Amino acid sequence: MEVKFADGKSITFEDCWLRDHCRCSSCYHAATFQRAKHILDIPEVFIFEVQFEKTHILITWEDDHRSVFQADFLIECDFNTWTENRRLKPVLWSGNTVAEKVARLDIDKFLNSVDGAKSVFKSLLDYGIAFIEGVSIKNITTCNS
Ligand SMILES: [Zn+2]
Repeated sequence: MEVKFADGKSITFEDCWLRDHCRCSSCYHAATFQRAKHILDIPEVFIFEVQFEKTHILITWEDDHRSVFQADFLIECDFNTWTENRRLKPVLWSGNTVAEKVARLDIDKFLNSVDGAKSVFKSLLDYGIAFIEGVSIKNITTCNS
């Protein structure tokens, strides 16, 4: 099924995906963010009718089950947007241009602070390199860190 949004964006959803993502109380536990049914127990049914409203669509299935999908939810679930936003975007660099951008921090800050660890991982993802200084030269230290 193709859904066209007010901004001109158009996303195609498979019937089985929509049924699997039904958020009604018999299909989904909102409190725990979990499916109420095993994925193999979801019936293989097709859309019988669709009502397009301003902020949501209402689907009636062949088995008379009804699902409401908010437009915001459907946009969030667009596979193309999802993969594009999560794709690693390495930064090409050479020589001195990157010197002050690459993480360079002390081993204690890396091991004992969330921000320190984050900066190292971000640097690794963006530039492929990070420097951790002050690491003991003992074998046991480098093996355990
Ligand atoms: Zn449902």
